[in-house]
Amino acid sequence: MALDETHDPARLSWVESANAAGCEFPVQNLPFGVYGTRGDGKPPRGGVAIGDQVLDVAGFSKALGFTGPAAAAAAACAEPNLNLLMSLGRAHWAALRLALSRALSKERGWEDRRARASGCLMPMDQAVLLVPARIGDYTDFYTSIFHATNVGKFFRPDNPLMPNYKWVPIGYHGRASSIVASGTPVTRPSGQLKPPAAEIPVFGACRNLDYETELGFFIGTGNDLGMPLKIGEAAEHVFGAVLLNDWSARDIQAWEYQPLGPFLAKNFATTISPWIVTMGALEPYRTAAFKRPAGDPAPLPYLTDAADQAQGGYSIAVEMFLRSEQMRTAGMPPLRLSHGNYRDAYWTLAQMVAHHASSGCNLQPGDLLGTGTLSGDTPDSLGSMLELTQRGANPVKLPSGESRAFVADGDEVIQRGRCSREGYATIGFGEAAGQVMPAITA
Ligand code: CA
Repeated sequence: MALDETHDPARLSWVESANAAGCEFPVQNLPFGVYGTRGDGKPPRGGVAIGDQVLDVAGFSKALGFTGPAAAAAAACAEPNLNLLMSLGRAHWAALRLALSRALSKERGWEDRRARASGCLMPMDQAVLLVPARIGDYTDFYTSIFHATNVGKFFRPDNPLMPNYKWVPIGYHGRASSIVASGTPVTRPSGQLKPPAAEIPVFGACRNLDYETELGFFIGTGNDLGMPLKIGEAAEHVFGAVLLNDWSARDIQAWEYQPLGPFLAKNFATTISPWIVTMGALEPYRTAAFKRPAGDPAPLPYLTDAADQAQGGYSIAVEMFLRSEQMRTAGMPPLRLSHGNYRDAYWTLAQMVAHHASSGCNLQPGDLLGTGTLSGDTPDSLGSMLELTQRGANPVKLPSGESRAFVADGDEVIQRGRCSREGYATIGFGEAAGQVMPAITA
């Protein structure tokens, strides 16, 4: 994929709200999602965010007479999930993006296009935004060396980073059924807890509930079982990115994680933003892969590709906010807890994908790969409360006078993300938000 007219910062849309300063969904973005509408009896369908509106992609294509691959890709958006669109591949995605960009532009013939499209747009605040794909499998990586080191320090102060970290893109297979769209309440989990001083564990409500600031990448086209992907072509299989909050029960995790890794501590909820920002839209924000410090080993050949090293990073800013019940009642805005950037990840997206498939594991359209917590090397870029409060030792002060060692009932945790670059439009991800509900006590 390359830079083209769809990235032209001068292009405006006849959907006027898309042209407003600070709008997350200008015509240069065009993220895909799945939406339903309250009470109209229509099944959910694929849409694109433009300004403060949602566009019915299949209906728009019919109304404007899209042809060829663009029409085929748009027709796939009539489905109640985006898996079919994802399975079509890059040529179809690019053709649809180009057709949508031209059709929505305020360029020659726009008044006619706007007239024909009447009935294809609805205000986003009236739409119900859903999980955009049928997610068969979800894998969570651990690609920030800063996060891995910070977390390792709590367990192994002298040797925080495990010896495999710089060789293997570490990950684990997560739980797909509990991935929820932004706005879905998150119930505090219960589980086995064993404080260090206790003799035996107890079963009870999690006391150390945390979030993890991540991105999630949706696989578009998969690979056949037994057929690995070459690093140089791995990124072509990715459809796009969402914000991802990997809710984590730290006390459950501490007791259960050895020897097989996270289980119930991370399977009760994962919140994602509903709009998938496509790899096509992310093209201008590519950057060099993270520069490994001198002395670090070079990746093994199956994870090494010159183009990936030169352009396989993405500059995507991610922020996490918190608003307590008290702050909400007092009308206070959410407090920003951290801001980091995906370009600081030790492993690239292509390395994640190539490594995942290197065993012959078959990735499938709609699979979701989490990046792991995106912490940077500065105190204001720590992507979890575990790191921010040093495992609860230094609680965060809230503007309401409250403090937080971990997340409390009633708290809303809100993630945001955006891409900007000199000479290009700024595009946003919307938000991945969830409010914590009290544990269910039997
Ligand atoms: Ca995680």
